[in-house]
Amino acid sequence: MSPHHDTPTAPGSAIEARNLRKVYKADGKTAAKEALKDIDLVIPRGSIFGLLGPNGAGKSTFINILAGLVVKTSGSATVWGNDIDIAPRQARASIGVVPQELNIDPFFTPAEALELQAGLYGVPKSERRTMEILKSLRLDDKANAYMRTLSGGMRRRLLVGKAMVHSPPILVLDEPTAGVDIELRRQLWEQVRELHEQGTTIVLTTHYLEEAEELCDRIAIIDQGEVVACDTTSNLLAGLDQKALLITPTQPLAQVPAALASDRVTLKDDGRLHIAYQPSKAAVDKILSDVRKAGITVKDISTEEADLEDIFLQLTYGDRARES
Ligand code: ADP
Repeated sequence: MSPHHDTPTAPGSAIEARNLRKVYKADGKTAAKEALKDIDLVIPRGSIFGLLGPNGAGKSTFINILAGLVVKTSGSATVWGNDIDIAPRQARASIGVVPQELNIDPFFTPAEALELQAGLYGVPKSERRTMEILKSLRLDDKANAYMRTLSGGMRRRLLVGKAMVHSPPILVLDEPTAGVDIELRRQLWEQVRELHEQGTTIVLTTHYLEEAEELCDRIAIIDQGEVVACDTTSNLLAGLDQKALLITPTQPLAQVPAALASDRVTLKDDGRLHIAYQPSKAAVDKILSDVRKAGITVKDISTEEADLEDIFLQLTYGDRARES
């Protein structure tokens, strides 16, 4: 598909937020809630950007402000260069949001559903790309099928298609693979990568760290309405400076030898040793010689990289602990 973006590689940001704040007012049932606390965030054009954070962090609030569905309390934001206060229509036209829930009207065929959506966005008939979109999502053979004959994966793809009828340069996927099985998840990842290769800037919210690690070139971690980290995925992972050695002894161990006892050394259920270390500080050689000195004959050894899970816990666990 060749989305009708102006210049997808143009410099500048896809999304820029400055001191963006949102307070949901109290009503009879709920207290006021500061969902976003003066957020600064820049999402570059051409990226696959992950917005990561636990439930209630403020991810949807952020997206919904950009999409014109929630009114901010203060601060400013631009979408593809369009200020949401000054040029709200252009801002809205620059973003397509794929919702989480799978509600698709059962009375329309995929082709009809896309035509209807294009109508809602005011896309003139001559500019509609219904078949092109269906084709790019590999739904062209289902163009006129009954909705009920579509699999879960096909429905999800159709929702992506609906978010694309107005050819937005930015596509936002809200928890795209929540509750889908691993095979379908991989299919959807592939689809996202294809859309990205065709020039669309992708923003996805997720609480699957593996998904962010796999797909995103940049990640912002949001927690309790604040951006607690924002960097390239590789910098985030490199910054962790944590690895682990997994040591398989010739004889499975029953306990950690006293000589090795430390809070970095743990015994796995299968009798292997898990030794956490900081690559910048510790030499693997030294660790191995300590292991041998403790009387262990090493049968096999492997290393474990730190992953986003570690970063995520490191950055958000403090808050959780304080809360509970
Ligand atoms: P996330 O998408 O990261 O799960 P949300 O943006 O949905 O987070 O929610 C952020 C916080 O704002 C939560 O505490 C949530 O309960 C609250 N919130 C979200 N929407 C509303 C609303 N319409 N009215 C009041 N509070 C809300």
